[in-house]
Amino acid sequence: MSVIETDYLIVGAGASGMAFADALIAECDADVVMVDRRHCPGGHWNDAYPFVRIHHASACYGVNSWMLGTDSIDQTGPNAGFYERSTAAEICAYYQRVLDEVLLPSGQVRFFGMCDYVGDWANEHAFTSRVTGASTPVCVRRKIVDTTYLDVTVPATHTPSFTVDPDVTFIPLGELTNMAERPTGYTVIGAGKTAMDACNWLLDNGEEPDRIRWIRPREAWLLDRMMLQPLDLVTETVDGLSLGIEALAQAETVGALWSRLEACGQLQRFDPQIMPTMFRGAILSAAEREALVQIENVVRLGHVQSLGTDRIILEKGEIPTVRGHVHVDCTACGYHKQPVRPIFEPGRIVIQSLIGAVQTYYAAMIGFIESTGRDDAEKNRLCPPVAQVNVPLDWIRFVHGMLNTSALHSTEPDITAWQASSRLNLTRGMENHLSEPRMKTALDRWQANAEEALKNAEHLLAEN
Ligand SMILES: Cc1cc2nc3c(=O)[nH]c(=O)nc-3n(C[C@H](O)[C@H](O)[C@H](O)COP(=O)(O)OP(=O)(O)OC[C@H]3O[C@@H](n4cnc5c(N)ncnc54)[C@H](O)[C@@H]3O)c2cc1C
Repeated sequence: MSVIETDYLIVGAGASGMAFADALIAECDADVVMVDRRHCPGGHWNDAYPFVRIHHASACYGVNSWMLGTDSIDQTGPNAGFYERSTAAEICAYYQRVLDEVLLPSGQVRFFGMCDYVGDWANEHAFTSRVTGASTPVCVRRKIVDTTYLDVTVPATHTPSFTVDPDVTFIPLGELTNMAERPTGYTVIGAGKTAMDACNWLLDNGEEPDRIRWIRPREAWLLDRMMLQPLDLVTETVDGLSLGIEALAQAETVGALWSRLEACGQLQRFDPQIMPTMFRGAILSAAEREALVQIENVVRLGHVQSLGTDRIILEKGEIPTVRGHVHVDCTACGYHKQPVRPIFEPGRIVIQSLIGAVQTYYAAMIGFIESTGRDDAEKNRLCPPVAQVNVPLDWIRFVHGMLNTSALHSTEPDITAWQASSRLNLTRGMENHLSEPRMKTALDRWQANAEEALKNAEHLLAEN
């Protein structure tokens, strides 16, 4: 059993591990070993439902050194007017190419698929092959990089939290594409983005809204896709963000904040009569949102507790169901909300959300900052992690994190230069629009309100 030596052992070759590795080796000559229990890179995208597309622009997703897609705006189809959005198959193929054509040829990276990490995350490191059972010890000279802390779950691989009678037709949403016959109706279970995708997919394929019943335990605040566009459309994004910052600076109460954010389009909801209790960053276009509003049979009786052949028991009541009905599982939570912890620990890096909405941007940024030679205390000062969003107050924490980290980075020329050149930066392309009056107004608004927004965010969070 020969020992492998390396500078960095990255556990997980999903979007985070790939972005980190790519950014790190672009800046230094570190040796890297990546292990993943899957046979190929791409993480959960390998298990995604067939009709999923990245929720925002491909132009700012993936690794820093290699484009995903063509950075173009779709001219036709349901995504017309927005930057292209890759399918899961395209994303998986992309990560395989990044591995084969960037990481491995660098001579700095070795990849071990079908291998489970089995160490203690501190001093003892090894991985075991799922094929041969052989265990390989790893001597890590610098750090182990943990990309598994946020523990992503997807419908195809999770176990529902409620009981399901074996005679009920209950499928993960990915199996909708395998249906041979039209059922008597659909019950979509879940309040998050996957449930929205399932309903939109059914409607796009011609199903009638009144044959869809939607069990929605919580109402969500939604983000507008038009306000999350880079490059040629970046003015929309910056304008929207600046309006959000102004609202955060000026709102006297949390209720007033939601009203202002809704008025300026930063947050949206399905039903103006119901105050959302959930914010998980779901992104919809106006057309997708309008389609979903057509579904009127929305069940708001809390979470499902058991699914039987003739009735569904929920936290706050029960509803009938029938055998010919298809029940669609959209209850995988995506991320488990883990407590934040320092990103840079002795001998370990724990990838967590840092700034901005795009996961791969901050994983790459952490890789870049690791390469700069700063000590852990300084890196942690510059990289305060932000918890995954779940409830509306997390919108405030998220914007506070963005403003706080931006302020910390603004005095670090190497970091700001990296951010300005990163293809993963959502505000990429801003420099080409600086002369536009709308962009100027937005940047002035941002500047004028950032400090007060930070203070007011702390005040509102302390009060609520
Ligand atoms: C349906 C869906 C759609 C999404 N859409 C977007 C989007 O549009 N934009 C966006 O920014 N984010 C999106 N996200 C968030 C998404 O989770 C991230 O973009 C990203 O793909 C997460 O990558 P990851 O590397 O952190 O996690 P994962 O993809 O889960 O990768 C972790 C890897 O670690 C491996 N692993 C775990 N434990 C071990 C172990 N002990 N030993 C070896 N290997 C191990 C796993 O096999 C896995 O491959 C979406 C999430 C979901 C669920």
